[in-house]
Amino acid sequence: ARAALLQSQKMEAVGKLTGGVAHDFNNVLQVVRGNLELLEGRHARDGWTKERLDKAIEAVDHGASLASQLLAFGRRQALQPIVVDPAVMIRSMDDLLRRALGEMIDVKTVIATDLWNTFVDPNHLENVVLNLAINARDAMPEGGKLTLDVSNTQLDAHYIAGADDVGAGEYVLFAITDTGTGMTAEVIERAFEPFFTTKPEGQGTGLGLSMAYGFVKQSGGHIRIYSELGYGTTIKIYLPRSTEQAAAIEPKSPVALTGGT
Ligand code: ADP
Repeated sequence: ARAALLQSQKMEAVGKLTGGVAHDFNNVLQVVRGNLELLEGRHARDGWTKERLDKAIEAVDHGASLASQLLAFGRRQALQPIVVDPAVMIRSMDDLLRRALGEMIDVKTVIATDLWNTFVDPNHLENVVLNLAINARDAMPEGGKLTLDVSNTQLDAHYIAGADDVGAGEYVLFAITDTGTGMTAEVIERAFEPFFTTKPEGQGTGLGLSMAYGFVKQSGGHIRIYSELGYGTTIKIYLPRSTEQAAAIEPKSPVALTGGT
């Protein structure tokens, strides 16, 4: 429980800090981008210059995408939960997942029948699932299999015994399993920390799992990592059951892919 409190305090501080800076930073990047485009317009026929400018614009876009991840992190308090039918949501993501992961990854979704509804912000949940899927892809550079398994789960007192912050009750379980590199005990221990990453500079923000953690905790759920080096990883997200009727979802395109504000 102490570790969980420390974690949430850390996240709050980081969130406050990054939110404002990320917004201003993104505005600066848009000015840079606009000017690069103007230059490119003038030098459209100079191949060498155009190539350099394209590279610069690409880097600006990468920066903007990082800034928007930070923004999403800073704004994490602003959840708009509704009653969601997880089956509908996951089915609507299928195409996006396949496109985001590419041909090397075999994507399989297993959706249990008679799934319970859950009360969450569907856009944030989509983003979390997408981020976890992208982590899974990064762990399978030679290709592999990603399974997204959604089912109803009853957590009981027995399950709680080993963990300090897991509540008994009825949950919808999202299990994301990859056949990738797996994680060492040290990496599992630190994986939820904001800015913890093992990826080369420019490739990881270290925010994916800490954002997932913040989202899940704020939604009254639980998140667990199960990983074996050399075999793969399963991330389990438990979101509390809702007995209400599901609202219709209007999926928005996730921040991580579009790099929008
Ligand atoms: P990032 O992906 O930007 O590094 P995350 O917070 O999403 O940030 O992940 C933190 C670290 O946890 C990653 O750098 C990686 O070492 C490890 N990790 C996360 N997901 C997986 C996975 N599916 N397989 C192996 N390692 C993972």
